[in-house]
Amino acid sequence: MQNFANNSVKNIITVLKNSNAINRNVALQFLNGDIKWLLSTASQLRDLGHGRTITYSRKVFLAITDLCSDRCAYCSYRKELGEGGGYMGEGEAIKLIQTGRSLGCTEALIMAGERPESKYAQVGAFLREKGFNSTADYAYHIAELALNCGLIPHINIGVLSVNEMKRLKEVSASMGLMLESTSLKLLEPGGAHHLSPSKNPRLRIRMMGIAGKLRIPFTTGIILGIGERPDDIIDSIFVIKRLNEKFGHVQEVIIQPFRPEKGTSMEKTQGPSLEMVQRVIAVARIVLGPNMNIQSPPNLVPDCKDIADAGANDLGGISQLTKDYVNPAYPWPDIEALSKECRRSGFALKNRFPVYPEFVSKEGFMSERIMALLNRREN
Ligand code: SF4
Repeated sequence: MQNFANNSVKNIITVLKNSNAINRNVALQFLNGDIKWLLSTASQLRDLGHGRTITYSRKVFLAITDLCSDRCAYCSYRKELGEGGGYMGEGEAIKLIQTGRSLGCTEALIMAGERPESKYAQVGAFLREKGFNSTADYAYHIAELALNCGLIPHINIGVLSVNEMKRLKEVSASMGLMLESTSLKLLEPGGAHHLSPSKNPRLRIRMMGIAGKLRIPFTTGIILGIGERPDDIIDSIFVIKRLNEKFGHVQEVIIQPFRPEKGTSMEKTQGPSLEMVQRVIAVARIVLGPNMNIQSPPNLVPDCKDIADAGANDLGGISQLTKDYVNPAYPWPDIEALSKECRRSGFALKNRFPVYPEFVSKEGFMSERIMALLNRREN
């Protein structure tokens, strides 16, 4: 291994540009190496790509269904049919969209459990009765409602087919699917994904590749602390890097620490330490380079400075209206307070659209309908 610890950031950038010297082995050594050097290098790389601005997206979460065909061991979002699970009605969606708009939200994040109609025959019948072929079809309808009201949709409803993605691109500025982890071990009995076939990394990598071919700005990321090993973390970062090198469509990479939720089978599992979260953010920054948007949620760490110090430049979606459905025990911070906290640490907090500006001007990435709305919102 080259002795990167003695290298200046300038030299690291040269290495990033000119060779594959930072391979999986080197990245793994970074992950376990000197933390002072790691955080300082990652922070300087972030400054180079993004300056001292930390972004977030002021959004409303439209959780259109909490039914799901998977059963992840850490999930507190999913509900069973007959035990309170169901679909958000159109009226409720419209009310949230309008309230979100009046509160200054820019984004409507449309989320759902994994294709519930594949598990419950009644769900398919229910959707058809309402005039929809599938959950993806209903997501399209809700995205149109958001668009009509001036909110910019971002869709994250699980693994989608080529045709579903093509259609949803018309009404969505960007889409997302967490890779979570490349670890196949998590699918084995006792693993966090044992009862979640859609969490097979091969399916997820395939969908990310399709998104690349379809020129869809894509959000993905990893979850830390669900049973993966350090080399799985590195492998996941490199898989994202490879996909982005091929298609240039990964707009942001989320580093999300697992936090236990009561009532789940992993409620007693400890999440990763703050130091581990910072180490992974920093390694992601070094591997993915100064320009990548590296995101970590501010409600899952003690202080947003902890994220910034590790080289991240984005805090993701924050809602003053709807809870964090994935981690309901961890409320969103107040945006004003967050802004002050950022200022104290030498950063300016800035609201952004769900799609990053560099993708708006990239040929073929925005549908006409989305482009028209972005133009209206910018003026
Ligand atoms: S985490 Fe997502 S995919 Fe897994 S059970 Fe919960 S809703 Fe379903």
